[in-house]
Amino acid sequence: MIAVMDIVPLRAFQDNYIWLLIQDRHAVVVDPGDARPVQTHLQRHALSLRGILITHHHGDHVGGVEALLQGTAIPVYAPRHETFSFPHHPVGEGERIQLPELDMVFEVLDVPGHTAGHVAYYGGNTLFCGDTLFGGGCGRVFEGTCRQLYHSLQKLARLPDETQVYCAHEYTLANLRFALSVDPGNPRLMERMQHDSQLAALGKPTLPSTLALEKSTNPFLRCHTPPLQTVASLLEPLASGDPEVTFCVLREMKNSFKS
Ligand SMILES: [Zn+2]
Repeated sequence: MIAVMDIVPLRAFQDNYIWLLIQDRHAVVVDPGDARPVQTHLQRHALSLRGILITHHHGDHVGGVEALLQGTAIPVYAPRHETFSFPHHPVGEGERIQLPELDMVFEVLDVPGHTAGHVAYYGGNTLFCGDTLFGGGCGRVFEGTCRQLYHSLQKLARLPDETQVYCAHEYTLANLRFALSVDPGNPRLMERMQHDSQLAALGKPTLPSTLALEKSTNPFLRCHTPPLQTVASLLEPLASGDPEVTFCVLREMKNSFKS
């Protein structure tokens, strides 16, 4: 039985979200790049930390782990194909993580592309996807290939439509501006831009989104559709009829897009 009581966004650095999962007095944190906001929230709400989930090795996702582990034996789960300086349980595709204090089970998915060993955690209708999938966009390709990232996003797209998508950065509005430039005739995208702009103006997170929303508005999950293939084929004729090439062209376009 999986029952996530509450998932709280803690802001860190410029635009990171550190997600804190809370049930009763127990908490699990995802990608604590900075320990301070986590410690402050734990103290303020008298919570005890029971586990740490890491999606990939970048400093803005792991920088707070050592401080959170001081004098404790909290289990840390981190991708088996990446290297970390702190003690951890290496995890990868097909494994399940049991977090009994929170009554939670997460399935681990390998989603390489942004980094070579990036993983995502899926359970209880929630997805923690780090820097692989963003609201209206996707991560940059740093260590893997754009084809790997394409297949990782396709894997995420096969999860149920109602899956709540918890990304590690608030990039949604900038991503939607790019999305509108390549998919301007998409009414759902226009609605989302309006909706998420209002949230941002109120200082509220645009996340979590849902996979259904991402599939209808995120150009990187819509590379099989004629409008996006047409845009991509202006730069690379092979994109026509080929979602994978379309994805790689869009990823390059986004890198140089000035919103
Ligand atoms: Zn990253």
